[in-house]
Amino acid sequence: MLGNLSLRVLSVAVLVLAPGAQRAAAEPLAFVGATVIDGRGGAPIELGTVVVRGELIAAVGPASEVAVPQDARVIAGAGMSVLPGLADMHVHLLGGWDGVTVDMLGYQRYLNALLYAGVTTVFDTGNVMPYILQIRDAIAAGTIAGPRIYSVGSLLDGTDPVWPPISIVVASAAQVPGIVDLLADTGVDAVKAYKGLSVPLLQELVRAASERSLPVVADMWSRTGSYDTAAAGVAALAHLPSRTVDAATLEVLQANGTAVITTLAAKESFSRERLADLAFLEHPLVSDTSLPAFTEALREHAAREPTAEEAPLVARWQNSVRVGKENALALHEAGVMLVAGTDAPYPGTLLGEGIHRELELLVEAGLTPLEALSAATGNAARLMQADDWGTLAAGKRADLVLVRGRPDRTVSDTRNVEMVVQGGRVLDREALRYDPATDPGFGAGVAVDR
Ligand SMILES: [Zn+2]
Repeated sequence: MLGNLSLRVLSVAVLVLAPGAQRAAAEPLAFVGATVIDGRGGAPIELGTVVVRGELIAAVGPASEVAVPQDARVIAGAGMSVLPGLADMHVHLLGGWDGVTVDMLGYQRYLNALLYAGVTTVFDTGNVMPYILQIRDAIAAGTIAGPRIYSVGSLLDGTDPVWPPISIVVASAAQVPGIVDLLADTGVDAVKAYKGLSVPLLQELVRAASERSLPVVADMWSRTGSYDTAAAGVAALAHLPSRTVDAATLEVLQANGTAVITTLAAKESFSRERLADLAFLEHPLVSDTSLPAFTEALREHAAREPTAEEAPLVARWQNSVRVGKENALALHEAGVMLVAGTDAPYPGTLLGEGIHRELELLVEAGLTPLEALSAATGNAARLMQADDWGTLAAGKRADLVLVRGRPDRTVSDTRNVEMVVQGGRVLDREALRYDPATDPGFGAGVAVDR
């Protein structure tokens, strides 16, 4: 079992003063004349006003109905949209660009890239437990800059775990309550079931986790979306299934209130479809925040022909993208809640920019832009049973993004980030850019022993 990784080693790396965070302004902030998308899926408010006071949203509504405080700093919103800070509800804040290379010292760069892209919440669904919990807690305490983190700590996998350094092995149902207690006492926000668990172990895990009020998120690989795993009553599937979900499974997912985290972006990367056009590497959300060595390695990866061994896998992932999109629409139409997540980092699926790609893929799947935006805002908060973020309403925490354009019409306008506000603080996006003068830039990393 993992868990003895020294916290003392990590504390040396983690406690660097946060860039990007500015003190909350003493005066209120008022966004005036913007399109307001509140994250609940309804029609946007045209010419809306959002007032932020301290850490919270004080008022949201049509400009004609919301008074702008006299002492407010007014931000002219003409041609802009205000939306809740985005949530990427499937990430691993552990690796470099490829999902296999570990670059734990680079954590601040990933956190900065997320904030720079307007991502104010992430769900880390498998990591080195003491490392991710320390980062989560340091962000919550304001010691370092970063999005709000929900974390499962380590994965729970079977006796031949796929990712040993980030897994706890579960060999029998009798072990499950003790392991769940260990995770709960350590302070995780959820539990992640991985592919090596049998259905009876998954069922026991759901039972034990509910006693500790922990939601279970399941990634069973090819069994994700099978009837038995869907019927186990998990809070969410960690990915859209790669096989067509049948009617009985749709029904049980809907009846159990199981959400589905989408991760089409990762499927697109594994299929290499994303690598066919590397223009996204020039996008400011990528080029302003990435370690050049990672971008270069990604270019080399994209230029390399798949080996004879890899080629059939690539074809399988192409199918998985297609079926995943079909499932997204079918699940959505059946009333199953979709929650946007990317599974970043993988080659072409990047922390920060990735969620914008995920939104585009959800619209390609047939969701409206507003429905896709809800998947990355209001639905994300609902998955975590949080009611203090994810939507724009009086009393909610002031995590919001100002973008140029109308993402409710053209979802890719979310990429045009003009301003990010986190807990009422306007972030200094210049300070979040990759800077070789302050970033250690460890590019080599260490390959995970798989
Ligand atoms: Zn994952």
